[in-house]
Amino acid sequence: MKIVFASTNRGKLREAAEIFEGFEIVPICAFSAWKSPDENGSTFLQNAVIKAEAAAKAAPDSIVLADDSGLVVPALDGAPGIFSARFSAEGTDAANRGKLLAELSGKSERNAYFVCAAVLIFPDKTVFATEGRCYGKIIESCRGENGFGYDPLFVPEGFDKTLAELSEDEKNSLSHRGMAFRKLIAALPPQNN
Ligand code: IMP
Repeated sequence: MKIVFASTNRGKLREAAEIFEGFEIVPICAFSAWKSPDENGSTFLQNAVIKAEAAAKAAPDSIVLADDSGLVVPALDGAPGIFSARFSAEGTDAANRGKLLAELSGKSERNAYFVCAAVLIFPDKTVFATEGRCYGKIIESCRGENGFGYDPLFVPEGFDKTLAELSEDEKNSLSHRGMAFRKLIAALPPQNN
């Protein structure tokens, strides 16, 4: 069964293909009618719905998937939050991590969590939405080569490795995205499983 994923983020596409094992994950850029929408919601869920609805317009006969995700740092009043992808002026993963380290410099309170809001829209316009979270802390310098985004700075609770030091399987088994996507899979009607 095909699921069209409203993302061009290579890290997310890789993880989605692995978590939705047995399904065919098709990137939305395969549909010429796709236009990346303004993510102008004020919550992860609102932005995930905005992306899923834009994807459903471009691929009306398909089951579409979208997620909006990011890192929440209570000591920074919740930043970067929904602005995680565009936290720094450059908006690259490396620059975003650099800004995060600069803002946390000298702070001993370094707890943080990732949030993933995930949405499926079916051709009959039925909508399923789920959320996953992954709690942990931000370390003082990057470690590990795997994953993407803030992974090299984030050590999940109960681990001494960063998400970028875990294998893809290990990360997916405990990550916000793994949790949110597995809940979507469980919500798929039996004939589609
Ligand atoms: P989105 O594409 O608007 O959902 O933005 C997601 C951004 O949040 C990414 O560009 C990363 O900066 C960050 N992010 C989300 N999920 C992860 C993750 O699993 N690991 C590391 N960073 C993540």
